Amino acid sequence: MSSASSLASTLLRREILDLHAYHVPDSAGYIKLDAMENPYLLPHALRGEIADMVASAAINRYPDPSAASLKEKIRDVLGLPDGMDVLLGNGSDELIQFLAMALNKPGATLLGVEPSFVMYKMIATFTGMRYVGVPLAEDFSLDLPATLAAIRREQPALVFLAYPNNPTGNLFPADAVARIIEAAQGLVVVDEAYYAFAGNSFIPRLAHYPNLLVMRTFSKLGMAGLRLGFLAGSTAWLEQLEKLRLPYNVGVLPQLVAGILLEHHDVLLQQAEQIKRDRAALYRQLGGIAAVRVYPSEANFLLFRAANATEVFDGLKRRGVLIKNLHGGHPMLADCLRVTVGTPEENERFIVALQECLRHE
Ligand SMILES: *Cc1c(COP(=O)(O)O)cnc(C)c1O
Repeated sequence: MSSASSLASTLLRREILDLHAYHVPDSAGYIKLDAMENPYLLPHALRGEIADMVASAAINRYPDPSAASLKEKIRDVLGLPDGMDVLLGNGSDELIQFLAMALNKPGATLLGVEPSFVMYKMIATFTGMRYVGVPLAEDFSLDLPATLAAIRREQPALVFLAYPNNPTGNLFPADAVARIIEAAQGLVVVDEAYYAFAGNSFIPRLAHYPNLLVMRTFSKLGMAGLRLGFLAGSTAWLEQLEKLRLPYNVGVLPQLVAGILLEHHDVLLQQAEQIKRDRAALYRQLGGIAAVRVYPSEANFLLFRAANATEVFDGLKRRGVLIKNLHGGHPMLADCLRVTVGTPEENERFIVALQECLRHE
């Protein structure tokens, strides 16, 4: 062992040494259906408008630290009432990190359901926060009695619920989520990363629940490359969380480009509508394949189960299609795969490749 590696393993925290880094595979040359990205580029005219703005952007200067103009546009699009504001993050992953850092008093617990977005648990580990995962029911529906019992027992300081859930795709019933918010003494964050594909939101209820914040990201809506997410909620919370934000966490170009895109929000929403139609078609096609069980989804991806998922995943990859293999992660996801809804052509290529794999394996 080199002296650097022995030194690193002596000095680093045990939890960090035990972690597996979040693995992002090389996707060059593949039909990329693994990361819930929007498959569409922007219309040509809009790209031209962005190019002109970027050409004259002051990238020699630090960005506006408060991102006032962008925040104003987000507030307008959301129609936030008085007393409510937004806090911007370098992707919503960064916001999860702020929340864990801010609420991690000694012995504090972060509670989530499982399987869900892996970053909740990973960030609890990064920050040394205790983590409790409540299993979903076998069909991935919310186990409300078990979740309420865990909240009473564990008294979590922070609860995350992805709405719709990733990687299962389903939208938990709004009244069940409301029961959880009411039962929790701690802060509940409803993570609406897939809002554009579902339509339901807890933003209208922010004023009703003092322990609720809603988190959204622009990533799944066609701006994954910008790295921008936000928390919406009461200024009483956001003013405090703001203290954790590093001064220039959102760069000049993301502020600028997201600002332009919010003025053309309708373009992104039209793309989301197209993706929803294609999701329905892909769901029907997967449902027609006897060797596959597909789960209903309100997001821009579909979860499905196939015997020997890893062989199917490898077979798809050999045929040039990259999806996400969930087998080997959470035990409830044994033999599960997740495919992002792409363009109609990409979806077709995926279905053809999947049928070939199932015939040969
Ligand atoms: C993708 C995803 C995010 C993270 O989005 P970024 O803004 O790209 O960091 C957060 N929550 C859920 C549930 C997601 O699926």
